[in-house]
Amino acid sequence: MRQNLTNLVMVFGLLLLITGCVWRSDRPDLTAAKPAATTTPEVPPSNYISDNDQGVFKVEHRDVRSAKFAELDRQVRDAKLLEKAADKLNAALAPPRDVILRTAECGRANAFYTPKEPSVTVCFELMDHFYKVFRSSGESSAEAYNQMFDAVRFVFLHEVGHALIDLYSLPITGNEEDAADRCSAFINIEYLGKDGVDAVLAAAKAFDLGSKRSGSSRLDLADEHLLQEQRFYNSLCMLYGSDTAKYQYLVTNKTLPAERAGRCQAEYARSKNSWTALLEPYRRK
Ligand SMILES: [Zn+2]
Repeated sequence: MRQNLTNLVMVFGLLLLITGCVWRSDRPDLTAAKPAATTTPEVPPSNYISDNDQGVFKVEHRDVRSAKFAELDRQVRDAKLLEKAADKLNAALAPPRDVILRTAECGRANAFYTPKEPSVTVCFELMDHFYKVFRSSGESSAEAYNQMFDAVRFVFLHEVGHALIDLYSLPITGNEEDAADRCSAFINIEYLGKDGVDAVLAAAKAFDLGSKRSGSSRLDLADEHLLQEQRFYNSLCMLYGSDTAKYQYLVTNKTLPAERAGRCQAEYARSKNSWTALLEPYRRK
C-alpha cells in the first residue's frame, strides 16, 4: 500500500511542467478557441489496458499554434513527462474510467479538470503566466523558470485532487477548492521531498504576489476559490504544521502569524490522515 502511494506521488515529481486549476476557476474556458487538432495520438501506457470495470490514465499532446510555446511543448514531449506520469498513476490507482492527461494551448492562463471526458488539461499559457509573475518580483530569468516549475507542480496536484474527488466520488464536505489545495500540499510535503517543499513555497509566493497585483474584487469574494491571501497562509500553515521545528522560521520572521501557527500541526495532521484514508480503497493492490 505504501509503495503504491509512493508510486502515485512519484508521478507528480515527474510532472514538473504540468499545471493545475488556477487562480480564478477550474472550469474550462468555453470562450477560448479550441486547440488545433491533435497530431500525436493518445499513448496508453503499455502495461495497462482498459476494461469494462476500470479505466486507465492516457496521454494527449495537442499542437500549439503560437511559436512562443513551441519550446515548452517540445520539452514536455521529449521528456515524455505526461507518459511517465500516466504510467505512474496507473501503477498506483485504478480509475473507474479512462482519464486523459493533456497539454494544450488554451487561449488563457488556466488548467482544469473536465469531468465529462474526464480529463486534466494543462495550458501552456499558465506556465508563461507563472514565469512572468516571478520575473516581475525581481527574480532572474533562471530562477523565475525554476519557481515556475515548482508552482506548476503545486497547481497540477491541486487539479489531480479535483480529478480524484470526482472519479471516486470522494465525500468532501466544505469547500472543494480548499480540499484540492490541501491534497496538493499533503502529497508535495509528504512524498516529494525538497521538490515538494519548493512547490508549496512557490505556490505561496505566487498567491502572495497575485494578491498584491490585483487586490480582491467582488468577483474574487464570490469565487469558489479562497482568496489568494488565504491560500497563501493556508499553504504556509500546512508546511509549518508538517514539521514545526524545521519551519519555525516562518513564525519567527512573522510570515505566518503565531495566532494561526498554533493550530497548524493539528490542521496538517487532519488533512494528511483524511487524504490517506480517502484514497486507500482505490489503490492498486
Ligand atoms: Zn481548483
